[in-house]
Amino acid sequence: MIITDQVNDTWLNGYQYEANLPQQSSVVIIGGGIVGISAAYYLSKQGIDVCLCEKGYISGEQSSRNWGWVRVQGRDEREIPMMLKSLDIWRNLSKELGEDVGYREEGCLYTAYSHKEITAFDSWLKLAKTYDIHTKLIGKKELYEQAGNGAKNWLGGIITHTDGRAEPQHASLAIARGAIKQGAVIKTNCAVRGIEKSGGKISAVITEDGIIKTPVVLCAAGAWSSLFCQSIGVNLPQLKVRSTVVRTSAIDTPIKGNIFDKNIGIRKRVDGGYTVAHGSVLDHSITPNTFRYAPKYLRALWKEFNALRLSIGQEFFDELKMPKKWKMDEITPFENCRVLNPKPNNSIINEISNKLGDVFPELQNVEIIESWAGMVETTPDVVPIICELEQIPGFYVGTGFSGHGFGIGPAAGQTIASLIQNSNEINLDAFKLKRFFDGSPIRPDSTI
Ligand SMILES: Cc1cc2nc3c(=O)[nH]c(=O)nc-3n(C[C@H](O)[C@H](O)[C@H](O)COP(=O)(O)OP(=O)(O)OC[C@H]3O[C@@H](n4cnc5c(N)ncnc54)[C@H](O)[C@@H]3O)c2cc1C
Repeated sequence: MIITDQVNDTWLNGYQYEANLPQQSSVVIIGGGIVGISAAYYLSKQGIDVCLCEKGYISGEQSSRNWGWVRVQGRDEREIPMMLKSLDIWRNLSKELGEDVGYREEGCLYTAYSHKEITAFDSWLKLAKTYDIHTKLIGKKELYEQAGNGAKNWLGGIITHTDGRAEPQHASLAIARGAIKQGAVIKTNCAVRGIEKSGGKISAVITEDGIIKTPVVLCAAGAWSSLFCQSIGVNLPQLKVRSTVVRTSAIDTPIKGNIFDKNIGIRKRVDGGYTVAHGSVLDHSITPNTFRYAPKYLRALWKEFNALRLSIGQEFFDELKMPKKWKMDEITPFENCRVLNPKPNNSIINEISNKLGDVFPELQNVEIIESWAGMVETTPDVVPIICELEQIPGFYVGTGFSGHGFGIGPAAGQTIASLIQNSNEINLDAFKLKRFFDGSPIRPDSTI
């Protein structure tokens, strides 16, 4: 494996939108990742005036750094109805927006080396059947068709041909342009510092560029949602894991779609290369929040114990020093970190480059031309939080999407837009924040 360049240059020219902040808006959205942007798109499409404030640039954090998998396969049952809706949206999104978001439906394959691993697919196969999702168990012939000579490694696998892939570096930007066309105001380099209440309800947001009067706020702040909520007196459990990713140069091979092998996760890109990551590492740097939230995460951590790689370093002290409350005329942690851009983990890059050719022989000599990392934020049951907070009417949260929020993002945005307008059709009981505090069992049924 040749590693020619490890600098993540994809993000050097961030996507900025200058706009005059409105004095008032029907809805203000905090965060320009795929969830906030999709909510802005659907709200503005329905004629609601909406202003989205992003502290850095559009899709600078998780939403452009992810693997680009758009899959229902292997999801927690609670996410399935929304994800099926999202697949419908992705299928028409390029046409609807008038630009290519890179969506291609080439299937999602999980591989198995042993009979034990094949048996472990049973519970998903049963669940898929109840939702009429056509996941099937496959043998060598179809493994070769989907994954080339990597098939020699595996005993079998499951595939959902109706799952797809899309381009994270294009998709959210295309949706943002769609929202602007519908009249949404999107402002980058504009951190939201806090909220104002009147009679217990939301009355305004305070940004670094001024105040916007509004009765409705959506916090879609990704990895920053817990800190923002803490600053307004709301406890939202959230922890982060770093995921290191590389991409290869373009290469012609029969390897299609998304393939998850326990050593390597891979996705074909529209530029002809592959986005590649380690199949099973949870790279968590211990911080004060690890201790604060550990009791709620015990089951999730136990489930992924073998993948867990814990370390302790500068991030512990950075988080310790970070203010948790601030005055509205002070610079906040959001302005001090415009874009969360963690360093890729070099030992994981080396593991990827050592294993890639063994798992996918056609990629033995491909060049790795870029690497980057992203912080995946997750809730204790690995299912997102989508709700209006009972304690602050008008304050909505859409966050905690774990390593699966890109695929579900468009439908999550659409669902939140409907929730705000009281016209939502998907049952959101399982997504309420209060489930972590009312004694409900915390059930992580899928992985981070
Ligand atoms: C490496 C990696 C691989 C992944 N792979 C996949 C995958 O293959 N498929 C999949 O479905 N999902 C995947 N995910 C998960 C997916 O990327 C996320 O779940 C999804 O992008 C979350 O979107 P979001 O809009 O909630 O958050 P983000 O994209 O993180 O956006 C939140 C935004 O809020 C902004 N913000 C925060 N605080 C403030 C503030 N106070 N004021 C203004 N702005 C603020 C931030 O700057 C940020 O831009 C992966 C994630 C990572 C990191």
